[in-house]
Amino acid sequence: MTKEGKLIIFSAPSGAGKTTIVHHLLTKFPELEFSISATTRKARGDEQPGKDYYFISKEEFLHRIAKKEFVEFEEVYSGTFYGTLRTEIDRIWKKGKTVIFDIDVEGGLHLKKKYDGNALAIFVQPPSLDVLIERLTARATDSKEKLKERFIKAEKELNYAPQFDIILKNYDLQTACNEAEELVRNFITKN
Ligand code: 5GP
Repeated sequence: MTKEGKLIIFSAPSGAGKTTIVHHLLTKFPELEFSISATTRKARGDEQPGKDYYFISKEEFLHRIAKKEFVEFEEVYSGTFYGTLRTEIDRIWKKGKTVIFDIDVEGGLHLKKKYDGNALAIFVQPPSLDVLIERLTARATDSKEKLKERFIKAEKELNYAPQFDIILKNYDLQTACNEAEELVRNFITKN
């Protein structure tokens, strides 16, 4: 059995800026390591397999669900699965590091329940739904249909904020990154 370590969960609707904040924290804290999720979606832009995600087929994903290899998984968008492999958390804990997650809101709450006591769950709050929609549209990597699905999901997810340990406002990216650093520093240094 791997000795349990700590987990820091960043959740938010797509477009709230959590990926940018998580990447920033990874450059600041060598004690952190990113939990690479498995997904059935195709790689976007300069995403790299085994760095941003483990890109796997739907067939393999379903097979791994059946083998109970995931600590949590979700069909985040219709037909597209995302999940955290148990081996991924163990891999990071074995190094004595804290796991940091960039995960959707329901997945984040699952992990918080499962690892309560060892976990800090942070909800990244965008200034408004309108701003979120603007950011998602500007990203322009998705089809119109997929974008609409992301908007609908984002609106629903904003309501989950109070269930997290902390709500981190991302109205200004630099301020949000500074605040995130402070939160992480306090969490990883406490016993
Ligand atoms: P994207 O396709 O934009 O990379 O991710 C879509 C959403 O899925 C984001 O909110 C992202 O944080 C979330 N996500 C990424 N990995 C996981 C995971 O392992 N589990 C769950 N539940 N959501 C994930």
